[in-house]
Amino acid sequence: MKLYIKLCVVSALVVNLFSSCSYKQQVDLIVSNAIVYTVDSSLSNAESFAVKDGKFIEVGSNDAIQKKYEAKETVDAKGKAVYPGFIDSHCHFYGYGKGLVEVNLVGTKSFDEVIERVKEYSKTNKSEWIIGRGWDQNDWEIKEFPNRYKLDKLFPNTPVFLQRIDGHAALVNREALKRAEIMADTKVKGGVIQIDLITEENGGEDDWLKEELNKEIRNIKYPFSMPSGILIDNAVDLVKDKITKPTTSEVKNALLAAQQNCLAVGLTTVDDAGLEKNIVDEMDALQKVGELKIRVYAMLSDNKENLDYYLQNGIYKTDRLNVRSFKFYADGSLGSRGACMLSPYTDKPEQQGFLLSTPEHFKESAKKVFDKGFQMNTHCIGDSAVRLISTIYLNTLISNSTASPAPLSYRWRIEHAQVVNENDLKFFSGIIPSVQPTHATSDMYWAEDRIGVERMRYAYAYNDLLKSTGMVALGTDFPVENINPLYTFYAAVARMDLNGFPGNGFNKENALSRENTLKGMTIWGAYANFEEKEKGSIEAGKFADFIILENDIMKCDIDKLPATKVISTYVNGECVYHN
Ligand SMILES: [Zn+2]
Repeated sequence: MKLYIKLCVVSALVVNLFSSCSYKQQVDLIVSNAIVYTVDSSLSNAESFAVKDGKFIEVGSNDAIQKKYEAKETVDAKGKAVYPGFIDSHCHFYGYGKGLVEVNLVGTKSFDEVIERVKEYSKTNKSEWIIGRGWDQNDWEIKEFPNRYKLDKLFPNTPVFLQRIDGHAALVNREALKRAEIMADTKVKGGVIQIDLITEENGGEDDWLKEELNKEIRNIKYPFSMPSGILIDNAVDLVKDKITKPTTSEVKNALLAAQQNCLAVGLTTVDDAGLEKNIVDEMDALQKVGELKIRVYAMLSDNKENLDYYLQNGIYKTDRLNVRSFKFYADGSLGSRGACMLSPYTDKPEQQGFLLSTPEHFKESAKKVFDKGFQMNTHCIGDSAVRLISTIYLNTLISNSTASPAPLSYRWRIEHAQVVNENDLKFFSGIIPSVQPTHATSDMYWAEDRIGVERMRYAYAYNDLLKSTGMVALGTDFPVENINPLYTFYAAVARMDLNGFPGNGFNKENALSRENTLKGMTIWGAYANFEEKEKGSIEAGKFADFIILENDIMKCDIDKLPATKVISTYVNGECVYHN
């Protein structure tokens, strides 16, 4: 017996010797001299790996890989850190691309600045509409919603549509309201058409009102109600639906522009949270011809066309496009007080937010989506929305499963989970929280005004959610936030914004460790997409999606995190960005 073992050892040595001097396996790429954060189950590190046909085939030490493989292309990482490509678990990839050719209103410090940017943009705009996004009245000195009157004067015949940073509110001018046939008495479920009460004194401001007055002067009594131009949640769609649809080449340009910026910040997969079929089709076409290289996890918008088509045709999956989920909206946002709360807003006690559809709609949809094996992902910001949707999820998953697999295995997701009641954290043992750490550091300036100190304890509570679920999927919600995943990493770990505020971190007990943050941006993101067997870590057999960073984000000073540059991004073993 002993002799037999010895012989085996000797023959293994012979094979090894033979292979190392005269035969090396041909691969496409070898990366060496790296600190490879593999994000495998034991979070092990390596120095090198070999890639063939778009996949990692072995990960190990420099010596081991060098001895065994020979590559057409070699990359010396020069001691830099290498990570699995980042996954943004919740963003609006197409919407962001589209926004790159619209008026950018992010960072405006007043409504006058909004007007200036729109005026500037209009000089070169060739489209029928003026479309913009990114204003946030919380950043202005006067923190009230603006109104349409200045826009009406500047653009009497051009429709103007300016979305708030979160997309849950919009300012539109009279021409846009007219095209959508919105008047003060128009009713919309799950939305608000804000009304201005026009008195005899201020009535002179509004040309539209003057027209109305001229038409039927005898019936008009002051004060007179007119739409102010602010639309919230479902009311936004009334105008959105009237905007001229983009052509195929405009869609293509938007997707490719978005891709270029995303690859440059180290994203290799984006979860697009709310898409129409025509956009998904264009993504598919672009990926088939090799133009769209970034991988997309598509969440379909909740509408009849999408539900009819995809529930009939089933899940669609290629290496770079995975269409197996639906995105629902339970409520609006905290910024525009559309988030559905269990009790009133602290700074506007007459408001409590609202649901965007009936509970029956969510219940019926959950059953339909479940029956066809799709995943349900629902936007929930307020604690009431979180409670309702969690209950519907768990009831659907438990009552319809024949065996009794854990609800978590269905991987249904709550997007944002921003304000959670303490008693409802338990629901997340069966639901994946998909959260955006930069929302915490953007909203921290005013969120407490909205909901008060007690509810803040369980708002943006990523570590509490992590403890309940065992994982969190991390994203940005861009273009609501910047696309840069390193800002996410920094916000999650430091709970500070880019100004280093607050110095001791915002609600620091809900910061995540660097390890958990890295997992949230890689392997947990992959799990939330049913893709953990193909991506999310640097392990043999998975897609060779990886990035080389300038700093080792697991060890560098915290203040170095956000400005960390991406040196290279690889998708499927191909270098798609190099700095
Ligand atoms: Zn979103």
